[in-house]
Amino acid sequence: MVNGKRTIGFIGLGHMGGPMAANLVKAGHRVLGHDLLPGLLAAAVAAGVEAAGSAAGAVAEADVVITMLPAGRHVLGLYQEEGLLAAARPGTLFVDCSTIDVADARGAHAAATAAGMRALDAPVSGGVVGAEAGTLTFMAGGGETEYAEADPLLAVMGKKAVHCGGPGAGQAAKICNNMILGVSMIAVSEAFVLGESLGLSHQALFDVASTASGQCWALTVNCPVPGPVPASPANRDYRPGFAAPLMAKDLGLAVSALEASGINAQLGSKAAQLYAAYAAGAGADQDFSGIVNTIGHRTAGDGGSA
Ligand code: NAD
Repeated sequence: MVNGKRTIGFIGLGHMGGPMAANLVKAGHRVLGHDLLPGLLAAAVAAGVEAAGSAAGAVAEADVVITMLPAGRHVLGLYQEEGLLAAARPGTLFVDCSTIDVADARGAHAAATAAGMRALDAPVSGGVVGAEAGTLTFMAGGGETEYAEADPLLAVMGKKAVHCGGPGAGQAAKICNNMILGVSMIAVSEAFVLGESLGLSHQALFDVASTASGQCWALTVNCPVPGPVPASPANRDYRPGFAAPLMAKDLGLAVSALEASGINAQLGSKAAQLYAAYAAGAGADQDFSGIVNTIGHRTAGDGGSA
């Protein structure tokens, strides 16, 4: 590290990782990047990232390694089978910003520690817009020292970071928050559909619920019906925003944590089923608020009358 500037190995330069790496370059850090897709690597190079021929090559000189990958198997595979931990200098800080299973995050911490490295899980919320603008929120899990060391880099890529606890606590906060969000989006959507069938205008329900006890982010910021909140995806044919497949992924991680913990969370589990079905069909390229369009009248198959 020279004058607070670090050498960073950045693996996974996709929708999120690409702009996050670019923001680190803009802040004066040296970033060595790698992605399996040459086009993404080329785009990162155009933003000032130095291309590494392999993931191991990106970390050999690094003070800090950041990963932004699709799932836990990619993180663990890179750390272990692809030799990332073995390629880094002893004591290097590994910060995984991907959204992964809590158990995998704890496994990644354990593997890093066993290899003489240090680790932090630091998943994000804020989406591609937040990654580009440097306004992500980070939820971090790991030791105080590791968090303090990563914090100046998180401050470049985001506007807020919360140290949630020990290994895996960042992932735990992420999936618990998104379980609230998935359940509340379905609840808000069902209320609008019911209100409509009772002759209530969307605006009237919004004006009441947004200032009453039904108030929540799914209603006041990401309102699932067009009109009351002009910036919500409902006003642009449900273009994301936060894509339904990502919500389905996060709820799937919540369900695996519920199962591992033996918690009987019926609404979280039901929301996971509904989002999995929506994301596999009409919602594949839609904002998660588009789930409002799947709510119809009850049929015999739902246990109600047609
Ligand atoms: P993405 O698919 O665009 O990017 C992931 C990148 O990792 C891909 O470019 C892929 O080629 C690369 N990759 C996979 N395995 C690799 C390997 N072994 N070596 C090098 N590169 C490898 O995904 P994304 O949208 O950037 O999301 C990344 C993570 O962030 C996910 O865990 C996602 O759940 C989470 N997240 C995404 C959003 C969002 O809005 N996109 C929001 C919050 C969190």
